[in-house]
Amino acid sequence: AKERFHGKTAIITGAGSGIGKAAALKLAAEGANVALFDLLDDRTNETEAKINAIRNGAARAFDVDTSDPARVEKAVLETVQIFGGVDIVFANAGINGVLAPIEEMELKDWEKTLQVNLNGTFLTVKYCIPHLKQRGAGSIIVTSSVNGTRTFSGFGMGAYSTTKAGQVAFAKMAALELARYKIRVNVICPGAISTNIDQSTKKSEELEEIVIPVEYPEGSQPLKNGPGKPEEVADLVAFLASEESRHITGAQIFIDGAESLL
Ligand code: NAD
Repeated sequence: AKERFHGKTAIITGAGSGIGKAAALKLAAEGANVALFDLLDDRTNETEAKINAIRNGAARAFDVDTSDPARVEKAVLETVQIFGGVDIVFANAGINGVLAPIEEMELKDWEKTLQVNLNGTFLTVKYCIPHLKQRGAGSIIVTSSVNGTRTFSGFGMGAYSTTKAGQVAFAKMAALELARYKIRVNVICPGAISTNIDQSTKKSEELEEIVIPVEYPEGSQPLKNGPGKPEEVADLVAFLASEESRHITGAQIFIDGAESLL
């Protein structure tokens, strides 16, 4: 089997479900050791067990709320102690949070979405940088969304879309700053992907009553593939994590069947 990541270590946030889980399985299948950062629950433990059944010791689950600086810093240090370093960082954990019209949006709900999606991305990257520098190279991949640059998915996504746009700017600034250390940073923008993200969505009552002006029409995705699969996103993540993408940094890459062009 092709082992693009033999001897490499990846930190993956939101690794218990969806895109993060698929990426962890993919990177581990190609030789990486993977540190699974998530709010620890059965799903994260199952992912860990599944990977360790294939290659014992390749995965370790960490109970990390990525918006908690002390937890992120400690889990990164533990990862380095266990696996010897960090080469790949997939800052992917995210929530939809509360969807509500801006007028009705409560500050605490707005802040929660910003804390997880923006602070979480910042803290994950911040605490990994010293270890990537130590290795003399690295690849950071951030999960934004088509929502970072468009509004089509409807009302109520003011907080979510703000964080997803912020992640794009953050990734580009990080790419610029870290290029001199041969650390690459790229940001991926998935369209609709079949995951468990709806479980992290809360709709306000007001929103239920709003008639969304644009129905999500038939043919809203030129490729007409339907929702993407986490494994398809994992293939992109693996490419960006690998040497095959060594000349790519600061790129914003859509993986959406061209949904974002409409
Ligand atoms: P998911 O809900 O299946 O997985 C997200 C994981 O993140 C979960 O395991 C959850 O426990 C974890 N998580 C949430 N808050 C966390 C925190 N504070 N600390 C640590 N872990 C936390 O969803 P997914 O679709 O795989 O989402 C992954 C990323 O993809 C998110 O950033 C999301 O915004 C983005 N995205 C998803 C879609 C889609 O349609 N599913 C589209 C575009 C972008």
